[in-house]
Amino acid sequence: MIKVAAVQPETIAAELGLREGTALVSVNGRELDDFLDWEFLTAEEQFVLQVRQPDGEEIEFDIERSLGEPMGVSLEPVRIRRCANRCDFCFVDGLPDGLRDVLYIRDDDYRLSFRYGNFATLTNLKPKDVARIIEYRLSPLYVSVHATDPTIRRYLLRNPTAPDILPQLRHFADHGIGFHTQVVLSPGVNDGAVLRQTLEDLYRFGPSILGCSVVPVGLTEFSKHHLVREPTEAECRAAIAVIEQRMGVAVRERGIHWAFGADELYLRAGMELPGPESYDGFEQVENGVGAVRWLQERIAAEATNLRGWEGRRIGVVTGTAMGRLMPMVLEPLARITGAGFDLIPVVNTLFGASVTTAGLLPGAAIQKALRGRHDLDLAFLPGEVINDDDLLIDSMSLQLLAASLPMELHPSKDFIDILHPRVAA
Ligand code: SF4
Repeated sequence: MIKVAAVQPETIAAELGLREGTALVSVNGRELDDFLDWEFLTAEEQFVLQVRQPDGEEIEFDIERSLGEPMGVSLEPVRIRRCANRCDFCFVDGLPDGLRDVLYIRDDDYRLSFRYGNFATLTNLKPKDVARIIEYRLSPLYVSVHATDPTIRRYLLRNPTAPDILPQLRHFADHGIGFHTQVVLSPGVNDGAVLRQTLEDLYRFGPSILGCSVVPVGLTEFSKHHLVREPTEAECRAAIAVIEQRMGVAVRERGIHWAFGADELYLRAGMELPGPESYDGFEQVENGVGAVRWLQERIAAEATNLRGWEGRRIGVVTGTAMGRLMPMVLEPLARITGAGFDLIPVVNTLFGASVTTAGLLPGAAIQKALRGRHDLDLAFLPGEVINDDDLLIDSMSLQLLAASLPMELHPSKDFIDILHPRVAA
């Protein structure tokens, strides 16, 4: 059973009298567990919907609608699947105390993998989940493989019962499911020959594995440093050599690049990023794979729509990692828009200076960096620093942060979302 969070006016749901708190019980006699059931079972033009209103009244509706016409309900948030693993590099272990409870949840949810591209390990699947993935064709899924050797993978996941990943993927692949895969690189465990073998196994698996990215392990001050460490520059270079070797094979044999290194891997290796063509359509950009090249491509494609900002001064807040790469994006942007961009790399005061990603910047550190900047007309925040409720990781609200600053503040995913739709005054 799932509950309605809101009903959009002038829709089928509104006409039926569904409202906040209405329980959606079943469709065609099949009980509803979550948003997947709701979306897939109501995809037909005709179905029978059973609901329970907040006052306990049970009603059955015979629904008939034209294909594509939305029902008009928003559902209550899904109960996140908890993770069955205990990786030494887990982000949750790297959190300081005192943050929002929700941040301490170790989620590993194939449903969010399908819907949002979150990586899942598939170690907590029940037979019912396997059947749903196949029945609903949840493809592609984003899967954290880390290593194809079952012993090494179990060690990395700290889960002695983790299933052997290749047969598991094979079962899904035989039913038409595809995968984007990733390896989180833990030096001394799954680099070197293990990485080479993992990429070989995944590549030889066949076209159901659409690609594999390699992301260096990221730790904070609070992580389990006695158990895991970040790769050195030389280790990142060695990993890139393995990735690029696999990439070369993929280009020759399949005409795609298939193996990717995260931007962070190249940054730590002190090596130049590959060209934009190397990312096969940027399928893993949300994973920090090709993010810089993707931004450059987006800006170049929108160049004619980004004029009219001459003379404006724009601050661009980022983490210290992207601080080194961002000039590659801001230089063309300044040329195209006529605005002056001021890069503001902010040190992470909550997790420690070693945490360099933009998405984990606390509001307090951003506030400190921007408070005295009366020279700026506006400032951009990386879109990923705020959640769906407009909160930063330290629970400061975007509204509060913006009100404390002397310039306009905008979260931005790609600059274009702010620079394109308006003409600067
Ligand atoms: S799979 Fe590992 S890193 Fe991901 S949530 Fe679980 S323990 Fe943490």
